[in-house]
Amino acid sequence: AIDPNAMFKQGFLDDVFKERPVKPVVTRFPPEPNGFLHIGHAKAIAVNFGFARHHGGVCYLRYDDTNPEKEEEKYFTAIEEMVRWLGFSPYKITYSSDNFQKLYDMAEKLVGLEKAYVCHCGDTEIKAQRGGEGGKEPRFRCEHAERSVEENLQKFRDMRDGKYRPREAFLRMKMDITDGNPQMWDLAAYRVKDEEHHRTGADWKIYPTYDFTHCLCDSFENITHSLCTTEFVQSRVSYEWLNSSLGVYEPMQREYGRLSIQGTLLSKRKIMKMVEEGIVRAWDDPRLYTLIAVKRRGIPPGAILSFVNELGVTTSPTLIQAKRFEQSIRKYLEMSVPRLMMVLDPLPVVIEGAEELELEIPFSPKQPKFGSHKLKFAPTVFIDQSDFREVDSKDYFRLAPNKTVGLLQVPYPIKATSFTKDEATGKITEVRAVFDKDTKKPKTYIQWVPEGSKKVEARVHSALFKSDRPEDVEGGFMNDINPHSEVIHPDAMIESGFDEVRRRAPWPEAAGESELGKGGPESVRFQAMRVAYFAMDSDSTDDRVVLNRIVSLKEDAGK
Ligand code: ATP
Ligand code: MG
Ligand code: MG
Repeated sequence: AIDPNAMFKQGFLDDVFKERPVKPVVTRFPPEPNGFLHIGHAKAIAVNFGFARHHGGVCYLRYDDTNPEKEEEKYFTAIEEMVRWLGFSPYKITYSSDNFQKLYDMAEKLVGLEKAYVCHCGDTEIKAQRGGEGGKEPRFRCEHAERSVEENLQKFRDMRDGKYRPREAFLRMKMDITDGNPQMWDLAAYRVKDEEHHRTGADWKIYPTYDFTHCLCDSFENITHSLCTTEFVQSRVSYEWLNSSLGVYEPMQREYGRLSIQGTLLSKRKIMKMVEEGIVRAWDDPRLYTLIAVKRRGIPPGAILSFVNELGVTTSPTLIQAKRFEQSIRKYLEMSVPRLMMVLDPLPVVIEGAEELELEIPFSPKQPKFGSHKLKFAPTVFIDQSDFREVDSKDYFRLAPNKTVGLLQVPYPIKATSFTKDEATGKITEVRAVFDKDTKKPKTYIQWVPEGSKKVEARVHSALFKSDRPEDVEGGFMNDINPHSEVIHPDAMIESGFDEVRRRAPWPEAAGESELGKGGPESVRFQAMRVAYFAMDSDSTDDRVVLNRIVSLKEDAGK
């Protein structure tokens, strides 16, 4: 078994700590509150919160909300919930926008240091200043860069006071245009925007850019290690330039590779379209890879963390096949959830002359400490339609006329004697059988439930797309939808042990740690023997249980 802290003890993250071995470690997870988090963000959460926890430090949850675009309350709530669901507690919850005044003051200070100027150039001019098409021409500064501090200060205040329309003026950092890195080519620090902000309303007519905000907010919060993804490698120089120019505390930015899952889409616009067109049920549809979806599907938070840990953290992006992700989940569930018997498509079997039996069944052969539960064996049981065949054959080892099969946990195997068929539909409606007390070791054991067992709805999901690259399919990803990605078994039946599994949820071994996976229906997880791993869906009510397949028992089963 892999050490659950392996990702912090060796490799990239260990090097990052050794580079700056300070205590206390202070980190932050800084999502933009403009959408739901996805599986990639789980890595960012594991890295930032986990790094702090591993070193006995703290991690902020900072909403990076400097864009006055439409930000909805539901995103803020969902983001915090997902962090907590993954087992982490923010040291503090902060908002970049709370620093608007402080950031503004820093900008004035930068102007005073002759390191920022108000510029009126448009895109074409800026492009020319940066060396034109392909950057082949020499770089140069516009005449605005030559203004006095007083003039810049006045114009910046004019920007603040609404005297400019958007794009008529912007504040630019005076960096180093001779540097080979474009992130040093006098980046924008503030822009005029005629929009209201969800927290500060109409207070501000100007808004700071990411390049200006992020490093300063990190500095204000005394972040020791600012961990972000590799698209910010080039930005490290501007990050360091700004903090150092202002003489403020300097956090250390280091960059790790993003995590993506192949064969799925995470783009907001695309998911929105699938929700609107009814391809998926909602943003938390178990076939999606938003974190709310992964949670609803029943994947335990501990399994996600152990998956991220298993992959390790490096500076390279990690593109993982969904299959590999599922393999890791399966491995985790195998040891951590109880087992039950469930049949998806019930077929009654009447065992003539059978006595009633009181069985004692362990919840998991892998975990004796889970204990056991009682199950009544009645002469009428239900097995799965797929475990019976009208016509026997040599290589077939389940139930057929005159053939013997074992029933899991039942001391005697059964032998089919006859069956009834609905001639109109061709469906087998009943099988008659007897105990076959002469056969000691049947070749196969199948699952069953006694008559009177609870009816449930089981939803079996598989890949939402047919290909591994839905966005590259001709005509777009909508042409790549797998029409069988959700198969519903409305009349599935589950043994009575389910009630105890439900009552005892979350099973601590499945959840992982104390904070993880408490209370939600998805924390009711189990292995349906010979079928798949399942968890309870949020559509469940007191009278009707709905289950989602988390993953199959074996790779590619039921695809
Ligand atoms: P997206 O556009 O997919 O929402 P983003 O980069 O805009 O991603 P933010 O909301 O800004 O996401 O993300 C907050 C943090 O999560 C950032 O530090 C970002 O680097 C990190 N992050 C985002 N996506 C991934 C990913 N796929 N793998 C690892 N970390 C990620
Ligand atoms: Mg972003
Ligand atoms: Mg985002």
